[in-house]
Amino acid sequence: MGRITSAANRPTVCSGCGAIPDYLQVDTLHEPDAFPTALVAGLAVVSGDAWDGQRRRCVVCGAHFEYTYDHDSQSGVGYGYTDETNERLFAFETRADGTLTLRSVSMRVTGAMLRDQIRDRRAMHVETIDRITALEIDAWSFGDAPPEIGDLPALDLIWFKPCGLTSLPPSVSSLSRLARLWIHGNPLTDLPTGLASLPVLEPVSLANTAITRLPDTLTTGRVSFTSFEANVVPPAWRASFVADYSEILVWLSAHGAAISQWDSGAWSHEDRYHLEVTLPGTEANALRRQVPQPFAMASDTDGVIELHAAGRAGADVIVVRVRD
Ligand SMILES: [Zn+2]
Repeated sequence: MGRITSAANRPTVCSGCGAIPDYLQVDTLHEPDAFPTALVAGLAVVSGDAWDGQRRRCVVCGAHFEYTYDHDSQSGVGYGYTDETNERLFAFETRADGTLTLRSVSMRVTGAMLRDQIRDRRAMHVETIDRITALEIDAWSFGDAPPEIGDLPALDLIWFKPCGLTSLPPSVSSLSRLARLWIHGNPLTDLPTGLASLPVLEPVSLANTAITRLPDTLTTGRVSFTSFEANVVPPAWRASFVADYSEILVWLSAHGAAISQWDSGAWSHEDRYHLEVTLPGTEANALRRQVPQPFAMASDTDGVIELHAAGRAGADVIVVRVRD
């Protein structure tokens, strides 16, 4: 197969590993090329052996690689080959202000690999770990995020692109500078309760996650409802809902909130399942076109739309006053 290489266009090139392609594979049995040992001479072995995948790191920036020696020399079941592969797992990219982004490069990275990368970087002391202000992970099947994320105290951005992230550790709640937590599109079922105490955290979008129940300590100001389908509304949110009509507006109009159970308690002045909201005319028109489940249109007169819960006894009512 010869030699296969690929490399991303990086904003900064490390003096130790910048010349190494992100992915380098050489068939050293059938091809005249030898594996370019000199090219990877700046990588030190961290752990493992070459048959399973040996972890190596750049002695300058600490970025992790995985080296594999895969020998299958014409054993009778196939063509036979000897591949030597060196794949970059993570990169540290310097931004204009001198801070660093820790970014996954291989789609194979896992939570365990990220844990090892952070631990190893911390142990190297080549640069202080508090220069890392952004963490960006892109992977096929990442799984649980490791608690070592909490060891990156300067993080202001954590971005898990849709990568199969299943959980965040409680240590995320110790990142006092964290402003942007982008996790939408991942199958998380829960969030760390301590997130609510982070002073500069912006609203977290829960679009396309599996989260249906949130900690009471999270207020509406910290969570974006866009596309969020709540099955159970935490009690602590009630006051915010009633006080902030714009939240209800988003909730109703964006996705037809599939509410299967409303938390008991004083939702409004008249009845615990009686909400009154005021919407702009355009939003009210959208509501007329698409009534959110499980509600049905009961009446629509004189700028007042009344929705009743379908198929349920009791007084599940939303009264919408149209504001023009
Ligand atoms: Zn490097």
